[in-house]
Amino acid sequence: MNCGRIPKILMSPLIPEWRAAVGVPVVAMLILLPTACSSMPISAPTSSPVFPTSVPLATAVEAGTLLLPATLVPPSPEAAPPIPVFGAAVIVDARSEPVMREQAAELIREANSFLQPLSSINLLMTDYSEDGAGGSTNDMASRYVSAHAAALPNGLVILAFGDDGRAKRDGGYSYAIAGPPGFTNAFVSPLTGSEQIYVVVVHYNHRYAECGYGGTDTATSTTALQGECRGQTGLACVQRNGYPMCSDSTMHLYASTRTHAVASSIVHELLHLFSPGGDLDHYDTPECRSRMGYPEQFRDLQETQYNNGLCPYVYEEFRRSYQP
Ligand SMILES: [Zn+2]
Repeated sequence: MNCGRIPKILMSPLIPEWRAAVGVPVVAMLILLPTACSSMPISAPTSSPVFPTSVPLATAVEAGTLLLPATLVPPSPEAAPPIPVFGAAVIVDARSEPVMREQAAELIREANSFLQPLSSINLLMTDYSEDGAGGSTNDMASRYVSAHAAALPNGLVILAFGDDGRAKRDGGYSYAIAGPPGFTNAFVSPLTGSEQIYVVVVHYNHRYAECGYGGTDTATSTTALQGECRGQTGLACVQRNGYPMCSDSTMHLYASTRTHAVASSIVHELLHLFSPGGDLDHYDTPECRSRMGYPEQFRDLQETQYNNGLCPYVYEEFRRSYQP
């Protein structure tokens, strides 16, 4: 058997696969050829195979060596449709607390690792800037939009204490602002349409399940104070992620990294801008249980936190909002 002859290669059973998807299989076929020749019978073709005219096979195999012309270089990354990207510019309110570029990038990467599996949308940091001019978060957003009108992202993530300290107190919140004239967002919110830029405000150093702080910046008690640890005043505090945490919370998903809850908050607040039900679209609501077909008694904190506190259907809404 002469395995070096092109016609024998073309008779290989691998050919139909190659015809179905020109690219990688071509390379695989050629590399596998010696094995195929030595151990697999080559059957005669029942009809003449059809070959892409752009692939000069005769130049690809010469005397047993592989010479791949440019037309054979596989376009493998294009095999699957690309995942849509939600681009977000990060703005650090320099008057609140410093957050370095790499910290911000890592935070967005972490948020993406929660969002992407649930929505098939990638969250990507497109820019980082610091704003020390003060005013409201809306002022910061407007300044950014004015300065970058030619190339605006889909959204802004503002790392700040927030308006009247709201993000520092609650963790985060979100709203949308009008883009400049002619601006169209590829993510079309069922609530606000296609001409808005989405704004998420979160407190970078927020402490999940903090214990013994009593609403201050410094822990003063070794047990939970009023309003902490989901009402369990007196519960022991333990060190976790560099601060005292409610002792019953250390195994929670949100406690798994120092910034998990903050990154999760970015996803939560962003998707609220695409969730028609508002707070009724939280995971742990009768409305969500009913919509998702969960039993009325169903409660699962880990599942709640895996879904960033949102009803799973909201991720479908977000995916559907992508209308490039
Ligand atoms: Zn919420």
